[in-house]
Amino acid sequence: MFAYRTVSVKPKLPAAIARLQELANNFWYAWHKQGRQLFKRINEELWEEVGHNPVKFLLHVRESDLQRAAEDEDYLRYYQQVLDDYDAYHNARLWFDRKYPEYRGEVVAYFSAEFGLHESHPIYSGGLGLLAGDHLKSASDLGLPLVGVGLLYKHGYFNQIINREGRQEASYPYHNFFERPMQQMLTPEGKEALVYVDLPGRRVFARLWRCWVGRVSLLLLDCDITLNSPEDRKITAQLYGGDVEMRICQEIMLGIGGVRALRALGIEPAAWHINEGHAAFLTLERLREMVEAGMKLAEAKELVRSNTLFTTHTPVPAGHDLFTAELIDKYFYPFYESMGIEREDLLELGWDESRRMFNMTLLAMRMATFCNGVSKLHGQVSRQMFSYLYPGIPVEEIPIGHITNGIHTLTWLAQELKDLYTIYLGEDWENHITDPGIWRNIEDIPDTLLWAVHQSLKEKMLHFARNNIKQQRLRNQEAAQAVKEVEQYLRPDVFTVGFARRFATYKRANLLFQDLERLSRLVNHPQYPVQFIFAGKAHPADVAGQELIKLIYDVSRQEPFRGKIVLLENYDMLMARHLVQGVDVWLNTPRRPLEASGTSGQKAAANGVINLSVLDGWWPEGYTGDNGFVVGEVKDYVSEELQDRDDCFSLYAVLEEQILPLYYYHDGGIPKKWVKLMKRSLITISPFFNTDRMVMEYTRNYYVPCMRRWQYFNSPGSRAVQELCAYKEHISRNWSQVQVKVEEVFVCQQELIAEGEQQGYSPGEQCLVERGMHLGEELKILAGVTLGNILPEQVMVEIVYGLVAEGGLKELQAVPMQQQEFRDGRYLYMGKLLLPQGTYGFTVRVRPHYKDFVHRFDLPLVVWSERF
Ligand SMILES: *Cc1c(COP(=O)(O)O)cnc(C)c1O
Repeated sequence: MFAYRTVSVKPKLPAAIARLQELANNFWYAWHKQGRQLFKRINEELWEEVGHNPVKFLLHVRESDLQRAAEDEDYLRYYQQVLDDYDAYHNARLWFDRKYPEYRGEVVAYFSAEFGLHESHPIYSGGLGLLAGDHLKSASDLGLPLVGVGLLYKHGYFNQIINREGRQEASYPYHNFFERPMQQMLTPEGKEALVYVDLPGRRVFARLWRCWVGRVSLLLLDCDITLNSPEDRKITAQLYGGDVEMRICQEIMLGIGGVRALRALGIEPAAWHINEGHAAFLTLERLREMVEAGMKLAEAKELVRSNTLFTTHTPVPAGHDLFTAELIDKYFYPFYESMGIEREDLLELGWDESRRMFNMTLLAMRMATFCNGVSKLHGQVSRQMFSYLYPGIPVEEIPIGHITNGIHTLTWLAQELKDLYTIYLGEDWENHITDPGIWRNIEDIPDTLLWAVHQSLKEKMLHFARNNIKQQRLRNQEAAQAVKEVEQYLRPDVFTVGFARRFATYKRANLLFQDLERLSRLVNHPQYPVQFIFAGKAHPADVAGQELIKLIYDVSRQEPFRGKIVLLENYDMLMARHLVQGVDVWLNTPRRPLEASGTSGQKAAANGVINLSVLDGWWPEGYTGDNGFVVGEVKDYVSEELQDRDDCFSLYAVLEEQILPLYYYHDGGIPKKWVKLMKRSLITISPFFNTDRMVMEYTRNYYVPCMRRWQYFNSPGSRAVQELCAYKEHISRNWSQVQVKVEEVFVCQQELIAEGEQQGYSPGEQCLVERGMHLGEELKILAGVTLGNILPEQVMVEIVYGLVAEGGLKELQAVPMQQQEFRDGRYLYMGKLLLPQGTYGFTVRVRPHYKDFVHRFDLPLVVWSERF
């Protein structure tokens, strides 16, 4: 292929509507329907044709169409209104500035392998990408100074076609980046801005693109340039495509290239967020930078850690990237030297001893001060899962927190409902999405009105669904009859269940199909019929996932299910919006506890759609007992077959016994009880399960602490990092000398407590073992501690106690002990405990303690008392 330059020739925008170009270039339109409407109104057909992409629209629209709009009073008024909104949005003073003025000008870098902003920009595959996109949007809404970093995939994920046999086929459409809402970054001299990474035997370059997402920007790296070999140009061809070697190249480009892209633009983030392990190599590049600038490796590690946050998104093993040591050698050989790091030391950073592989999740965890899961349950599961990295440390004290995922409400909310909320929740409700008080006004919406809006959204969705099936059949060249009959599919007066997600097997799309006879009775019930809409992509390498698609397709073509169970193709953000806005119930059946959070149910809830879900991911936090329904039990199963059988049975039972009678109970022409349920769901779920709340939590719990640490460690003349390193090294080297033993335990009788305060031992004390205690009595514990070369001020000696429960103690509490005297090479410590009623276990432990620690176990070492 010969070289060429690219130039776009587009129609001239009339002056009266010239700012359409600016609107087209900001994903603000992804959460402002009026923004999209501005284009659609000019030429609806073209708008559909260009896949709702406004930049492409402006390239292809006829000049005469633009001219007509520019002369249309109505249009111009609308145009002005939208621009006023757009400008007001950009000029508002926002939450972050008000709350944290001292961190003005600092930047948070947010790295993710995928971002889902809008269907016109397909660089996402599923939940992770949608979450990242929603994160950027809320960051913009809140005024958080964040910059996203990702890869620009030439073919996106893939487009899904379901063929005549019900098999998924992947197509990889060509995307012209010059027709996307983004700009190529140039150097000050007007040349392409480029970054490079060194891969074995060659240098690979990427050009940079910037997308505006409201106020924040997203930087994307693109390897598809002629400077690279044809092979290397494919590094950014496809999201999650290719083999393991392709994966490591992508992750090097994302992590290392991503840091260099920020540098090329002169950005020095004060906080770094690794959104899932794919981007963890960024920590190595930051290490290299610091070592190259003359810092010692150990100190550089502390400094990188100080302002890094890692969010883990899945307990499913396939979600954690593993590379062999040979592969790391191959790709990091040049790095070892320039980083001044020994091969073993680098491998150790990501080493997973149980699998004997380099694990990106472990690299991220070890190089981040802060680490979190994405729901309360997932936090627990993650602490359990990584407890082997914290030997001797109680699972509940492992420093992995959680921030429950949310959704960007305005992106997923139907315009019709948004208008309704504006009337009943108040003009300004959009700026108070996290305020439960605002949402309580949902009660004021007349039931008939809420129901009417829901029904109209449902009809719109059903129309969309029928059209999708019709297009499938036309493309698959089915008989005219098969195409025609689709018009009779899916009735608006029938209770409708939606199930759309990635077809990963743990999500169990097949759960419903374990008993076809019962299913047939359900969908063909004379009074209480049900219809089901399925959609979702399976990863092209996931054979089992594709079998699920085939299974559902086959069932949908069988006589008792025709037109009542349907399978839509090519699930994307557009389809997701239709489905979460238009079904009656959103079904979610993951194999507990493998769904880290899930977010589609939250999108549904914001639209008054009821959740029917396994108590997994976010649902245990969202479910209140009266705002939706539960499938299955909270229970550990010995086999997946048993779990599936029980959950399937439960699913049918809940539908038949609880849901359908409620839905079909009509009073005054509408399902009164159902509408009540819709309102409960809206009021209880919407204020919390949104990304405004989520991004505020990230800011408060992690970004600001990262920024604070970064400033602290980097303040001029500070030796804090060096001292922290020296401390850790000293403690690690000498820790084996530490011993502790509880020597004596007393009960201090109530009447003598006051008196005994001053003295060490008081006459009223007796041995606990003989006598139990009464409420209000104090427990006094004496322990002897050997520290060797470690000083008492370098450790914390504490009593640890908790309720006696199955498998150990729970709800652990720690109470510091006081150092008393040094005798026979041991320090004596004394501590007191006033316990509430109950059966408690207690003991004493020693752990490292340092002023700059963020968690109790920044250095994961602990010694517990010997038997006593
Ligand atoms: C929201 C969304 C997802 C994620 O949904 P889950 O509940 O996590 O399965 C996936 N794909 C699309 C297109 C979405 O809109």
